[in-house]
Amino acid sequence: GGQGAGPSGAPAGAANKGGRGSNTLKGIERLREAREQRRSEMEASRLEKKALMDKDPGNPNWEFRYLIEQERKILQLSPIRTFERGYMRNEQIIVCVRKRPINERELANKETDVLSVPSADRLILHQPRAKVDTTKYIENYSFQFDFAFDEEVPNELIYKYTCVPLIHSAFQGGNATCFAYGQTGSGKTFIMTGGGRPGAVKMKGIFALAAYDIFGLLPSKEIAEHGLSVSCSYFEIYGVKVYDLMSSKKPELKMVEDSNQAVQLLGLTETPVHSVDDVLNLIAFGDNNRMMGQTAVNAISSRSHAVFQIKLIKADGTTVHGMCSFIDLAGNERGIDNAAADRSTRLESADINKSLLALKECIRGLVRQTPHLPFRDSKLTQILRDSFVGSKKNRTCMIAMLSPGHQSCEHTLNTLRYAEAVKGLGAKRDALE
Ligand code: ADP
Ligand code: MG
Repeated sequence: GGQGAGPSGAPAGAANKGGRGSNTLKGIERLREAREQRRSEMEASRLEKKALMDKDPGNPNWEFRYLIEQERKILQLSPIRTFERGYMRNEQIIVCVRKRPINERELANKETDVLSVPSADRLILHQPRAKVDTTKYIENYSFQFDFAFDEEVPNELIYKYTCVPLIHSAFQGGNATCFAYGQTGSGKTFIMTGGGRPGAVKMKGIFALAAYDIFGLLPSKEIAEHGLSVSCSYFEIYGVKVYDLMSSKKPELKMVEDSNQAVQLLGLTETPVHSVDDVLNLIAFGDNNRMMGQTAVNAISSRSHAVFQIKLIKADGTTVHGMCSFIDLAGNERGIDNAAADRSTRLESADINKSLLALKECIRGLVRQTPHLPFRDSKLTQILRDSFVGSKKNRTCMIAMLSPGHQSCEHTLNTLRYAEAVKGLGAKRDALE
């Protein structure tokens, strides 16, 4: 914490020889100085507020913005900017948050950025509130995770901190999973498949970065002697149905339960890949398939889970040595709260909620060794069953994606609480006051 300046500006140990009268004079002088100091501070804050209003005239949220800026001054932000080995975590479950930059639509709506990332593992949500007498104030919620990434952190750096250990566990024979969780528009697809506005530099996503790493590691001595080969699959889970994204007509896949109660997808396309380019081509094909026939209002992609899997196959050509699953989850917003939603939308939201709840319990079970996990509550958890049980080599990473605008506050709080629950951190959170 920063230390306050001394109680007065007078140099310590200054001679204080004069009599009583001069002390009184000094006292008066000090009072006058203090008053002037207060006055100039008030003037500075008035100018600051005015500058804010001038910068953004007519913004009804300028007071909130001002209050949040004051908070940030105290916070002394030092977020993650580079890769530092010391930050790495060696845990089976890693949970982190990623704030995306505020976008043009939010700016046009005069939204205020309510998220601050003061350090490598902490995030603060400044919730705008109003008292009964309409006085505005900010309520601050502080959260701690394995990592907190602000809007400046590129996908690649997040990948290094969170996914590199997953790739290693797959090579060691484990099942590694990485989930992007959050409301629609928070950046789930951006971190998984990459993106960026047309014309801007396209940022690689986790799928592609994993492909680079896997093909980078394959020739290394200890791995090469296992004679591993690589194959990929890409599918979409929509309610209780699963569609193959690697096949041009997006066929629905039949499912059968095996003796472990895990679901096998019959006829899922497993494509052998020999280079990073092979993988990139597959991803492009699958993404295109996923988006096909969608309009903004009818965005099926926000209501389905997309699963991209990279399998390491043993020299026999069939046995799986280890694998990575990367999942772009359905939006967690509760359409169910929306009275205007039609029956099928409500059912669909209930279905998504159910699968996300089952997922939370199953991930927690990974380290808690809970005997009865609710796999069968959703297709997602049934399909990923082997990622949660059995091997100590299994690892999971959840990246909770956050939209920074104040209108997303409620959804953002839901996302943060879910992420805390996955890590089992619920009790650690305290509202700062
Ligand atoms: P979701 O998949 O969660 O619905 P998207 O990944 O589609 O959200 O992101 C919504 C929009 O925001 C997209 O246009 C995307 O390119 C952009 N976006 C998301 N995250 C970032 C980021 N970190 N930097 C720049 N643009 C981003
Ligand atoms: Mg998406």
